[in-house]
Amino acid sequence: MAGTSGSKAEKQFLKRVKPYRDQLVKDHVDSPQEGFQYFESKEYQTDHRAGGSIMSQKIKAGGLKGILGLLKIFTKHMVKMRKGINVCFEDLEPYLVELENKGALINKSSPLLETYPNVELWETLQTYAYEHYGVRMGFTEVPEQLVFKDKTILFRYAIVCIQEMQKSEIDCAPKLKASAEVMRVYKELGIAVNEIAKWLRENYNIQCQSNHPLGGLVNTTPLAGKAGLGWQGSNGLLITPWYGQRQRIAPIFIENKIFSYTDNDDHRWIESFCSQCRRCERACPVGAIYHEKQVSASNISGIGETRTCIDRSKCFPQFNSTMGCGICMKVCPFSQGEGSYEKIKKAYDKKTAKTATHERLISKNGQLDNP
Ligand code: SF4
Ligand code: SF4
Repeated sequence: MAGTSGSKAEKQFLKRVKPYRDQLVKDHVDSPQEGFQYFESKEYQTDHRAGGSIMSQKIKAGGLKGILGLLKIFTKHMVKMRKGINVCFEDLEPYLVELENKGALINKSSPLLETYPNVELWETLQTYAYEHYGVRMGFTEVPEQLVFKDKTILFRYAIVCIQEMQKSEIDCAPKLKASAEVMRVYKELGIAVNEIAKWLRENYNIQCQSNHPLGGLVNTTPLAGKAGLGWQGSNGLLITPWYGQRQRIAPIFIENKIFSYTDNDDHRWIESFCSQCRRCERACPVGAIYHEKQVSASNISGIGETRTCIDRSKCFPQFNSTMGCGICMKVCPFSQGEGSYEKIKKAYDKKTAKTATHERLISKNGQLDNP
């Protein structure tokens, strides 16, 4: 996975928008570095290259069979994945030319503001995305703290898309079969967001910027949480009612608030459930999951704070050598297929109600005993 961040196309895009950053949506002083960039950092190179190149580490870890498996994944998914990353930026050419020629982007979908919240269009969009690409979505505003360090996006509002990774494949983690599924969905979701963005431009004159699920310009897990799609689990991954942790996330940024935000707090209870569960923490082979999440940025509109859940210096070498690891995602009780979320929620509500009744009784008796 090393070398997947900061593609040439992304670097060129960031270079071209640099003079206009103040009128676009840029990073914040508290913004984090994009995760995959850690693979290219001096820190990672010094700590983890001692055992040889990434490829030689893979040979040591998986032997010739492992390398052949990797080659198969690369041929099947990598080429289209790279193409998808490039298309995200190639499609922005008219906007970049407009920025360079006129010094600003002309708002083109402002007529849709008159028909806000455009319920019918939101429903049509959701149906189109799900029927064509198996994509579910939410809509929210992007806080600047979620734009990665030194990065910029063109538009402030985000359609946040998720796509499922199949349980039968993820259940094989950390074997290559699971990595292949991770790569497949990176590729498919990349294609999906590019196509949905194209559909919005061509049919509704909505200016938009799709962003690939691999690497990317914004921190998509808290963004999806903000959009009400789920909640961040103890291992840092998003948990949703549909797929548990088995999904990838990618946004499409649009220029206006033309839909109602889907922001909600419905999944906040997961935080308390995770503190009792800890299954991922016990299963992680390198002890990378923190017992307590660490606050990385606060005062973020809509979500309050972002939290770091894993020690990347421990996780990333394992993630890299297995091409995706995924053990923590596999063992999460929410990832166990259809109905998991509802079952867990029902049991959690029952337990919480029982505890509340018990506490009420203690307090009542306490009052009687100590008038
Ligand atoms: S991906 Fe693997 S190494 Fe990383 S936190 Fe999960 S189980 Fe641990
Ligand atoms: S395995 Fe348990 S603690 Fe970890 S994310 Fe899933 S529910 Fe939370």
